[in-house]
Amino acid sequence: MDIDQYRAMLDTALEEARTGLAEGGIPIGAALYHADGSVLGSGRNRRVQEGDPSIHGETDAFRKAGRQASYRDTIMVTTLAPCWYCSGLVRQFGIGTVVVGESVNFAGGLDWLREAGVRVIDLADERCIDMMRDWIAANPALWNEDIGEECHPG
Ligand SMILES: [Zn+2]
Repeated sequence: MDIDQYRAMLDTALEEARTGLAEGGIPIGAALYHADGSVLGSGRNRRVQEGDPSIHGETDAFRKAGRQASYRDTIMVTTLAPCWYCSGLVRQFGIGTVVVGESVNFAGGLDWLREAGVRVIDLADERCIDMMRDWIAANPALWNEDIGEECHPG
C-alpha cells in the first residue's frame, strides 16, 4: 500500500464529505477499506440530516461495511482526524490502519491511536484542510456541538 493508494482512498471519503456539505450537513466523510484495496463501506457525518449525533463519518462507514470477521487488515480513511468516539471505535474493533485527510483543524485522538499501535497516516490534504477550515469558520456553533465542546469549556 503506497501513498498514492491512500490518496485514492481519501477521494472516496472526500466525495462523501462533499455530499454531506451539499445536504447542509457537516462535511466529514469516511470509508472503510480492506488492505487488498477493496472498499467495504463509506459514509458521512449525518448529525444534521438525520438529527442523530451518533452518525459520524467513521461510524457511518463502519456500519455500512457490515460485519467483518477481523478488522486488523482494514483501513479507516477519513477526511478529518477522528474524534474520541471514533478513535474508540478504531481501538474497540482493532482497525489496523487509520488514514486521515488532515489533522490541522482537529487533531482528535491521533496520538492515542499511535500509542495503541495503530498505524496512522496523515495525508495533510489541502482540499480537506480548506474545506473544513471554511466550514468551521461559517458554522462555529454547529462545529462545537459536533465535537462535544460544550462538555469541555475552554
Ligand atoms: Zn467521530
